[in-house]
Amino acid sequence: MPGRILIIDPIATNRILLKVRLGASNYRVLQASSLKEGLSLTHSTAPDLIVIDDTLIAPDITALAALNEAHPCPVVVLTPGEEPNARARLLAAGAADCLQKPVNDALLLARLRSLMRFETTRRETGLRDDTSRALGLAEDGVGFAPQSQVAVIAATPSLAKDWSQQLRGETSAQITVLSIDAALELTDADTAPDLFLMAVAEEATSLHLQAITELRSRAATRSAAIIAITPEDAPVTAAMALDLGADDIAVCPFNPAEVGLRITTQLRHKHRADQLRATVQHGLQAAVTDPLTGLFNRRYALAHLKQIAQRAADEGTPYAVMILDIDRFKLVNDSHGHAAGDCVLRALSACLCDNLRSIDMVARLGGEEFVIALPGTGETEARIVAERLRKLISDMPVVIDAKTTLTISVSIGLTIAPAETPEICDPTDLLKQADSALYGAKGNGRNQVIMNPNAA
Ligand code: GH3
Ligand code: MG
Ligand code: MG
Repeated sequence: MPGRILIIDPIATNRILLKVRLGASNYRVLQASSLKEGLSLTHSTAPDLIVIDDTLIAPDITALAALNEAHPCPVVVLTPGEEPNARARLLAAGAADCLQKPVNDALLLARLRSLMRFETTRRETGLRDDTSRALGLAEDGVGFAPQSQVAVIAATPSLAKDWSQQLRGETSAQITVLSIDAALELTDADTAPDLFLMAVAEEATSLHLQAITELRSRAATRSAAIIAITPEDAPVTAAMALDLGADDIAVCPFNPAEVGLRITTQLRHKHRADQLRATVQHGLQAAVTDPLTGLFNRRYALAHLKQIAQRAADEGTPYAVMILDIDRFKLVNDSHGHAAGDCVLRALSACLCDNLRSIDMVARLGGEEFVIALPGTGETEARIVAERLRKLISDMPVVIDAKTTLTISVSIGLTIAPAETPEICDPTDLLKQADSALYGAKGNGRNQVIMNPNAA
């Protein structure tokens, strides 16, 4: 998906030249000759990226904000001069980057690639975040943001120190000086810097250029932001740095105001990405967990039973499935309140977890009903386990509050998928068998284990 780029430039020749260059890389190119036309196209076509000529921004820099508002996507400004403060002003006003005309082809394309890459990831993670939210799984990130850490890596420690001193007033992040070796030895993502400011020499064999790839490939630094500081008039080096994984480029001479702005933007992106990752991870966990007891839920149980069935068939081993239901649980709620009922459910869950092996699965199927799967367990052993659990539970005091301690009992329906079954047992069949055995246990007076007569 090469993406759609909107060029806004009053001079037709410029637009056509740029269109040819971008078209060669398969970008779909839209054109506008004025800001007004550009804004209207931004609205109607939602481009992936906008390239705008500085002459349309210079008279009124708020045009950048207007573009960002019309549709959020990176805006690259093509500037005539090399005035670093003008660059800083444009970045502060919302430009994703400024490239000096005439723009080197390699650099332009590398820059667009990296911005497109960022944009695609942003949209994908945003989409997953939306799904988590729609499912009610996401939690808003906590307001507390730890202080960001920036590591400066330059050709010499004294240069790195000089840069870090110049940056002091420009960012609230904590800045340290690091050697390449020390950066590559980092092993803990939680304590690794959030951003690397990496000076890159012009030669293609530059150690620092290679270090960008290395940082990107290591678990501890993979999600850190990287800004490469490249020499003046070295667009090919800058392009390489971007293609190797740098998120942004600042060109020497070192301009602390500009670099500070770039740091702020990259840190913002990095923290947002961290937050989205955490939300998605949290969502995944929430999707398979029962919030009251912390046990796996029905969705996980069914998927995991399939895995157990497959493994048992591959290894030729039996496994046992039991469904356990609290006796007269409604009475607990009715006599002591719903909160007391919840307390019983949690106590029972803890008791089950404490008294089973780590390879066994315990899940809450719903209400006061639990499923337990015992891999590699045949009939005799399963009966012993079920009876042991039943007795443990009936002997267990459940403390509700200072005045109330309850006892409960459970009925258990048990079934076995025997080792000699040639085909894989369907877990839902086993659940049905266990359920009908449970029904028998209830009818028989409760607080007992019944084995499904069709099993084994
Ligand atoms: P039986 O011995 O036949 O299983 O009787 P029972 O009372 O346990 O069964 P019944 O199905 O009549 O009632 C189950 C009760 O479980 C009804 C419902 O309010 C309660 N329940 C279901 N989920 C929860 C929960 O999350 N918390 C609490 N406190 N109660 C729950
Ligand atoms: Mg019950
Ligand atoms: Mg029930």
